[in-house]
Amino acid sequence: CGIVGYIGKKDAYPILIKGLKRLEYRGYDSAGVALISKDQQLNVYKAKGKVSELEEFVAQKDISGNIGIAHTRWATHGEPCQANAHPHYSSTESLALIHNGIIENYAVLKEKLQAKGYTFRSSTDTEVLVQLIEYIKVTQDLDLLTAVQLALGEVIGAYAIAVLEKNNPNEIIAARKSSPLVVGIGEDEFFLASDATPIVEYTDKVVYLEDEEIAVIKRNEDLKVVDLNNVVMNPEISTVALN
Ligand code: GLU
Repeated sequence: CGIVGYIGKKDAYPILIKGLKRLEYRGYDSAGVALISKDQQLNVYKAKGKVSELEEFVAQKDISGNIGIAHTRWATHGEPCQANAHPHYSSTESLALIHNGIIENYAVLKEKLQAKGYTFRSSTDTEVLVQLIEYIKVTQDLDLLTAVQLALGEVIGAYAIAVLEKNNPNEIIAARKSSPLVVGIGEDEFFLASDATPIVEYTDKVVYLEDEEIAVIKRNEDLKVVDLNNVVMNPEISTVALN
């Protein structure tokens, strides 16, 4: 039920965990984090229960990296358990995705992907989306943004998502429809969250994404917002009160 993201020069993990804790009031049953490490591994860690249980789980793990996404889940499809917690990997583990909301037509999409040989590790609606993005990306040889745009065009439902790609430690793609998502603009860094609460201690500049908008969040570049058809949007930068 909560999303946090970070890309910049700092260690992502502490910022992500702190952000998840700030979103705890929204309620959740499990938590997880994905980080692209210094040696460019895409590491996904998740745990059923509280954010503190996730912290215990990662105690001996590689939590390096200055790009990452994190999630608290309020299960709608699939019981609360580690396998169903987010982030979800794509089949080849080249992508990791977090999602708040519901993919209404997940069953049809899942059948289609299973017929192409895709196997699933969870019983969530969400895993269908990350697999679909990878399928479109690989079969059509597209970049991540275009694959996300095409995949979201096939999706019926509500979503706030963020996606990481193992081979691209300089980019987070995030999108929303009917679920809130906010981008925080800092100095040489960006934040992402379900609401501004985790962001305000770092920056007072935020963009509230609109329905069917996609944020292309790149290291050392200005924030770009496009729609599903790649029309470039002019996002309004709001100023929020700093804590
Ligand atoms: N529908 C997704 C799931 O059950 C996301 C739930 C949420 O918004 O946390 O995994």
